[in-house]
Amino acid sequence: MKKSLFCFCLLLPGVAFGTGVSVSSPDGRLVVVTDVEAGKPVYSVSYDGKTMLEKSPLGLKTDVGDFTVGMTCVDSVRSKVSKSYDQDKIKKSHIDYEANRLVVTYSNHNSQQISVEWQVADNDAAFRYLIPRQGDTGAMVVEREASGFSFPKETTVFLTSQSDAMIGWKRTKPSYEEFYVTDAALDTPSQFGHGFTFPGLFRVADRGWVLLTETGVDGYYCASHLSDYKDGVFTIAYPMPEENNGNGSASPGIALPGATPWRTITVADNLAPVAETTIPWSLVEPRYEVSRQARPGRGTWSWIVWQDNSMNMADQKTFIDLARDLGYENILIDAGWDQNIGYDKMPELLGYAKSNGVRPILWYSSSGHWNDIVQSPTNKMDRPIVRKKEMKWLRDNGVECIKVDFFGGDKQETMRLYEDILSDAADHGIDVIFHGCTLPRGWERMYPNHVGSEAVFASENLIFGQVFCDMEAFHATLHPFIRNSVALMEYGGTVFNRRMSRDNNSGNIRRTGDAFQLATAVLFQNPVQNFALTPNNLTETPPAAIDFMKSVPTTWDDTRLIDGYPGRYVVLARRHGDTWYIAGVNAMKEPLKLNLDLSKLGIVSGRGVIYADRKDKDVEAIEVKIKKTGVVPVEILPDGGFVIVTK
Ligand code: CA
Repeated sequence: MKKSLFCFCLLLPGVAFGTGVSVSSPDGRLVVVTDVEAGKPVYSVSYDGKTMLEKSPLGLKTDVGDFTVGMTCVDSVRSKVSKSYDQDKIKKSHIDYEANRLVVTYSNHNSQQISVEWQVADNDAAFRYLIPRQGDTGAMVVEREASGFSFPKETTVFLTSQSDAMIGWKRTKPSYEEFYVTDAALDTPSQFGHGFTFPGLFRVADRGWVLLTETGVDGYYCASHLSDYKDGVFTIAYPMPEENNGNGSASPGIALPGATPWRTITVADNLAPVAETTIPWSLVEPRYEVSRQARPGRGTWSWIVWQDNSMNMADQKTFIDLARDLGYENILIDAGWDQNIGYDKMPELLGYAKSNGVRPILWYSSSGHWNDIVQSPTNKMDRPIVRKKEMKWLRDNGVECIKVDFFGGDKQETMRLYEDILSDAADHGIDVIFHGCTLPRGWERMYPNHVGSEAVFASENLIFGQVFCDMEAFHATLHPFIRNSVALMEYGGTVFNRRMSRDNNSGNIRRTGDAFQLATAVLFQNPVQNFALTPNNLTETPPAAIDFMKSVPTTWDDTRLIDGYPGRYVVLARRHGDTWYIAGVNAMKEPLKLNLDLSKLGIVSGRGVIYADRKDKDVEAIEVKIKKTGVVPVEILPDGGFVIVTK
C-alpha cells in the first residue's frame, strides 16, 4: 500500500479524517509523519528529508482494550509549546523550549479511544500516550507496548545491555552497569538476552545520529528499556518479572485518565545536538516545592580508595580534613557508619564536620526485601514509618544529603520507592543521591532535591577490576554522548593514585594521565561531585592538578560539543559564569592532534590556561593565547587529556 504523506486534513485541525498526519519542528528540518497501516498506528521520522526512522509501530495492549490493532485515526489537534525555565543541576542553567505539538486520537474496533501526543522541537521529537477513562473503567494495566523504533538497515548502534535480574553483588542487579557495544551492527544481540537500557545512540550511516531515551517516569509507571532487535524493530520493553526478587508487577498500572512517560528521539546530522540536548527536562515539571534549593558541591569520600576498612572515626575525620583543605563543601560518609562508628558516636563525627565547615552526606541501603545486602544501614529507607523517623534523626543531626544504594530494578513498585524517598527527604530538607540504581528520567527537574544517580560503570569499578582501568578512556568518550547526555551522572571520579589502593603501591594500575583525570571532572556532569582524592595526593600529585581541583565548579551555565566521536575521543566545553572549561580525552592508540574551533563559543582573541598530559612531564598550568580565529591547536596523548580554562 502506498502511503499518502500529506492528507488534506492536515490543514483542518480537529476534523475527523483518514490517515497521514505530520508535524515538523519549528525550523522545519525534523518531521514526524504518523499514519495507520492495516489497522496499526505507525510513525516515521526524517531530518532534512532523509529518513532517520522508517515506519515504526505505536500502540498499547492493555487489560481494558487492545490499542495495537484494528485502529483508525479519528482526530488530530495541533498547538505550539513554548516555555523557559532555569535549572542548575544539568548541562545548562537556562533553557528555552519551543516545539510543535500534535495529538492524534485513534479508535479501536470497540470504539475505545487513545491518543498519542507528539512534541517536535528542532532536534528532539517525543511522544506519549494519553488514555481517557473508558466508560466505567478507571483502572488499567498495560500489558505491553507496540511502541518501537525501526532504523534504516545501514544504521550502527551504541548500546549497553540490560542485565539479568537478581545477579551480581548480593543479587542487586539490574543497576545499569554493563558494557557498551559501539558502532555495532543493528542486529547485535544483547549480552543477557533482555535488550538494552536507555539511553541508546544510533548512527544512521552518513545521514546523522539518533539518541533514544525516556523521561517523566515516576511512581505511576515502570521504567522501560529497548528490546533486542527483532523483525526490523527495537520495541519498548518492560521490566523482567524476576526483578525486585519477583515482588511487584512487571506491568505498569494506570489510573484513568492517565498518561505514559515520554519516549524521546533526538535527531541531528551531527553529534552536537546529541551531546547538548535538554529534552529530558523540557517535557517535565517540578513535582513539589522545596524549602531550600538543592546544594551543589564538591566532596571527598574515603570508601572509594581506602574501602571498607576506612569506616572508622579517625579515617572519616582525616577525609573531613581533606575536604576542608581542598575547600570542598561535602564529606560523603559511606556504608557501615552505623555499625563501625555507631549512632551514638555520630554526633561527634557530624559535629567535627560542621566545625570544619564541611557538610556530611550519609549512606543508606534502599533494601529491603529485594536483595541480600548486608552493608548498613539497611531496612531504613524501604518502609515509610521507619524512613520518616530516620529523616527526622538526620535533620536533627544536621545532615542535609543522603546517598541511597542498591535498588531493585525498574518495576513501577521501585519507581514508587524512589519517589517516596525523594519526597520524604524533601519534607526534611534533605537532598538525595542514588547509587546502584536506575537511570534518572527527568528527575533533576521533577524532584528538586534529586542531586545524583550512578547508573554507570562508575569509579568504584577502577578498584574492582583492571579491565575497567584499561577501558577508562573508552568509557569516558561515551558518556558525554550517551549516559550523561540525558541525565546527571554521579561518577565519584578524578583519582590521582597511580595504583587503586590506600598504599598507592598495590591494586589495579591506572592507565590514564593526571590531566585526563582533571578532564573527567568537567566531562562528567553532576551537581554534587564526590571526587576520589586521597590525603597523599596533596603532597604527591602535581600542585597544578590539585589547584585545578580546588577551583573546578560543579554547576554549568552552558555545555557545547567541540569535537569527538563516541568510543574514540571527545572535546566538550562547559561554561561556568564567564569562564569556559574545555575538556578533552583520547581513547585511541595514537596521539590525536586537533585544531579546536573556539569561535563557536564566542571566544576569539583571549587568554587561557591549559592543563595537559605530556610525555614524561607533570601536569602544569601553561598559558595559552587564543588567536583572532579562535582556533587552538592541541595534542591529546593516548589515555591522556587536557582542560583549557579561559580567562
Ligand atoms: Ca555501583
